[in-house]
Amino acid sequence: MASRRIEDLHPDLQPLCNAFLRQCQDAGVDALITCTYRSGQEQDELYAQGRTKPGPRVTNARAGQSAHNFTIKDKPAARAFDVVPLVGGKPMWDASHPHWQVMGKIGTGLGLNWYGRPNAPFREFPHFELAKGYQ
Ligand SMILES: [Zn+2]
Repeated sequence: MASRRIEDLHPDLQPLCNAFLRQCQDAGVDALITCTYRSGQEQDELYAQGRTKPGPRVTNARAGQSAHNFTIKDKPAARAFDVVPLVGGKPMWDASHPHWQVMGKIGTGLGLNWYGRPNAPFREFPHFELAKGYQ
């Protein structure tokens, strides 16, 4: 099971994530963190899904290749978090719901690299990543 703990994020991403959640709340969006850190083993299991295991393909990254796998001195320090808006207490996975754009605007306003933006390397609406330039 992947971590949902903010403490498992990169030290520079933790305050940005807290600010993100606060601003979402202020905007009336109930944002739920679904993943912060994912171990190499968890990443490989996810990669196998839709390839050698049943289920839809959800990632193109193997162990160590995802921003969620990042560590500092062997401690979790994920460079990305995944979120989903809760609507009526339930996850709203339909990315055409307006709350996704609210979250995207807040995240990019904080300088985060949002993979839901139209020119992202691949569209992954829940994924907010620490911008390059942070060590
Ligand atoms: Zn992600």
